Amino acid sequence: MSIIQSNITPSAKAADFLGRQHKMLIGSEWVDARSGDTLEVLNPATGAEIARIPHGVAADVDLAVTAARNAFDNSDWSRMNPPQREKLLWRLADLMEQNIEELAELESIDNGKSSVVAQHVDITVAIDFLRYMAGWATKIEGRSVQASVSYMPDAVLHGYTRREPVGVVGAIIAWNFPLLLAVWKLGPALATGCTFVIKPAQETSLSVLRLGELIQEAGYPDGVVNIVTGEGAVAGDALVKHPGVDKLTFTGSTEVGKLIGKAAMDNMTRLTLELGGKSPVIVLPDADVAQAAAGAAMGIFFNSGQVCSAGSRLYVHKKIFDNTIADIANIANGMKLGQGIDPSVDLGPLISQKQLDRVCGYIDSGLSQGATAVTGGGRAGDQGYFVKPTILVDVDQNSRVVQEEIFGPVLTAIPFDDIDDVVRMANDSPYGLGASIWSNDLSAIHRLIPRIKAGSVWVNCHTALSPALPFGGFKQSGIGREMGAEAIEHYTEVKTVLMSV
Ligand code: NAP
Ligand code: MG
Repeated sequence: MSIIQSNITPSAKAADFLGRQHKMLIGSEWVDARSGDTLEVLNPATGAEIARIPHGVAADVDLAVTAARNAFDNSDWSRMNPPQREKLLWRLADLMEQNIEELAELESIDNGKSSVVAQHVDITVAIDFLRYMAGWATKIEGRSVQASVSYMPDAVLHGYTRREPVGVVGAIIAWNFPLLLAVWKLGPALATGCTFVIKPAQETSLSVLRLGELIQEAGYPDGVVNIVTGEGAVAGDALVKHPGVDKLTFTGSTEVGKLIGKAAMDNMTRLTLELGGKSPVIVLPDADVAQAAAGAAMGIFFNSGQVCSAGSRLYVHKKIFDNTIADIANIANGMKLGQGIDPSVDLGPLISQKQLDRVCGYIDSGLSQGATAVTGGGRAGDQGYFVKPTILVDVDQNSRVVQEEIFGPVLTAIPFDDIDDVVRMANDSPYGLGASIWSNDLSAIHRLIPRIKAGSVWVNCHTALSPALPFGGFKQSGIGREMGAEAIEHYTEVKTVLMSV
């Protein structure tokens, strides 16, 4: 577990983009914020400023929503047929593929994550997802219904439903997978014929701004996609409260999700929320220890633990507990920390000083409540925002480190003996995003799946996401689903048509 010092510098293409004066995309124009102000963008591996972005305010959001409204109501976009929308989505996916290395590099520099992960997970999955959604453009269907109305006894009726685009979509996203989270919202919006205003996270707006250029290059009409950068409490708040927004889609913390949900109700704005998690990893007694340990390590340390569905609570049958923990600790100890653009790095820094303080605060709280750090246990190095991959044992189910989302590379591990006990502990959380089960005992697995209160249950894998399957939370992990056919439902309204013929 060492921090690698590398002198890798950005490629000419990425450096050229980073060095620009960044602007926001509103309608057909790249513009400064009305405030005239900018916000700093830091490299989380060093804390140094790498760019500045416009500090968008309510007036910018208003212009962006107006542009999106005009594009929705009266433009080439509103008259476009589904195969044309499909073709445009493919064109955008192709452009992303042509620029995949630059996009991955920008993501890595801005967020701190490994550039290899950025390319092969973030950007590749985003491209796959756009192509999957492109197919949906031509497959949006209603139902034909044999309708009858008792007080119209003589009428011959023809009833059917149509799915129509919901309208102007306002999207607000977190910083952990900046481009991918944007695309999970953009894909269904563009497949269904909506228009879009996005407020990326202020820490990580760069890849979304580059995406805006590719959207223009793909040939989307002006105003279909608008990007307003800035602070959540300013630009984000203005987007949430804007009466011209028909649907909000948010990825972020449960705390902010609740605020947004309450505000959305004032305008009855449609809403989907992808929120926090504290996902259990359950290792049954028959499991292959090496396989389960590798999966558990990936489940918590991937992206430095900054994953909504991170497997942050490990429950292992007591028979194999010590061996499993020893294997995970071995994996953690072999990890190389460093800046993500070095391809040999396994773990990048956390996103910010705030997250570094928060995660270290949780580790300290665990230790002060009696936990033992098998490995890790705090900050790594004294530059940038690195935290050592950490495993805490001797933890109590009711302690803060087990109950609250840490959002860092910190695993809590508890042994169990009885299956009812592990079900109770796994479900003893306000969250319900994901869970994984490690076993080859088919009967035990199938009996366990229905008992787990989570939006996704993975067996012998963790956070495996397919574009064709819905993803989202039970309980306080969210409302609605992203991806799969379910995404199309959330970006459309159902219109009922009843004809007396
Ligand atoms: P966050 O603080 O909730 O911020 C998310 C976004 O909301 C940012 O763009 C933020 O703006 C904005 N925002 C903050 N306050 C706002 C307000 N009052 N009105 C409107 N927008 C506001 O979350 P985070 O710390 O960035 O991300 C970590 C959280 O996201 C974790 O809880 C994680 O589990 C969750 N997450 C969930 C999923 C999922 O799919 N379920 C995926 C990824 C992450 P700023 O840029 O100013 O912060
Ligand atoms: Mg940054």
